[in-house]
Amino acid sequence: MEKICVAVRVRPAVPQEIFNGTFWNVEDNRVSLHRQHGTPISGLSFAFDHVFDENCGNARVYELLTKDIIHAAVEGFNGTVFAYGQTSSGKTFTMNGSSSEPGIIPLAVRDIFDNIQMMSDREFLIRVSYMEIYNEEINDLLAVENQKLPIHESLERGIFVAGLREEIVNSAEQVIKLIESGEVNRHFGETNMNVRSSRSHTIFRMVIESKGKETNPSGDYSSSDAIRVSVLTLVDLAGSERIAKTGAGGVRLKEGKYINKSLMALGNVINKLSEGAKQRGHIPYRDSKLTRILQPALGGNAKTSIICTIAPEEVHIEETKGTLQFASRAK
Ligand code: ADP
Ligand code: MG
Repeated sequence: MEKICVAVRVRPAVPQEIFNGTFWNVEDNRVSLHRQHGTPISGLSFAFDHVFDENCGNARVYELLTKDIIHAAVEGFNGTVFAYGQTSSGKTFTMNGSSSEPGIIPLAVRDIFDNIQMMSDREFLIRVSYMEIYNEEINDLLAVENQKLPIHESLERGIFVAGLREEIVNSAEQVIKLIESGEVNRHFGETNMNVRSSRSHTIFRMVIESKGKETNPSGDYSSSDAIRVSVLTLVDLAGSERIAKTGAGGVRLKEGKYINKSLMALGNVINKLSEGAKQRGHIPYRDSKLTRILQPALGGNAKTSIICTIAPEEVHIEETKGTLQFASRAK
């Protein structure tokens, strides 16, 4: 298991927001709470592998946190990237981006196909799936009829979501279209699209399978041309804000409880993994659907990056501290 790479990204402030007491200062790979015109506030300074300020674009985030993972994925290693943070802190902007600034998912997809093109000695088969976990239920975003899918485990397939559609794809454009159609599916029958997407975990997955084209003199594939299979998993997590803040009852409360439970389970799993093999002991993958589905994507030979997004405004200080604490535990 490699070290998990942990980064924090601060989104630009909302223009009309007034700052009169404190602000988050970014310097090198450190983010600290400062008094306006003054000194850092002790105990609230955090260092990570990378800290990106509000001027940093998606391309740079991709370069530093995902590019190596993509290259390794094409070579046969599993790779996983998460975006964690409260609603409106920039998770979806980071993962999906906008039409003028593509995010990590479209950049990764393009990079994979570019890489494959260059590996003319291998043949590739690429499959894509896209799902959400909403209230501990797994829904297929590529096929609306596939709702409440179960998780199964078998000797050949390991842990998998039974009935999830996997589309075979041949180009980056095709994948990007699939994701767009998935977004439409997600909002099917929803009155408030934003609410739903901030309350579900979205998991985009690419299975990259390849085998050598070269044959040895007897016409068989030589052992160095064994089939390689790797899984790239890119996750836009549900908003990490605590329930109390939204003052919610009923449906919102139920959603919040599921979100808290699964994010806590994720934190515990990542924490265990980052402790190193010796102290690790039992890893509580089974505590949520999220961690269960991600079990093959975490641990083992997987390379993992976590991007924790934070909102700079003072009203969000408590949530931001919570996110920075989550990020610190993941190191
Ligand atoms: P989340 O997915 O965490 O709820 P969003 O990604 O939807 O948050 O971001 C909230 C708003 O802030 C969106 O309008 C988004 O375009 C904008 N935004 C977020 N991060 C950035 C950024 N780094 N640069 C520019 N705009 C951003
Ligand atoms: Mg979002």
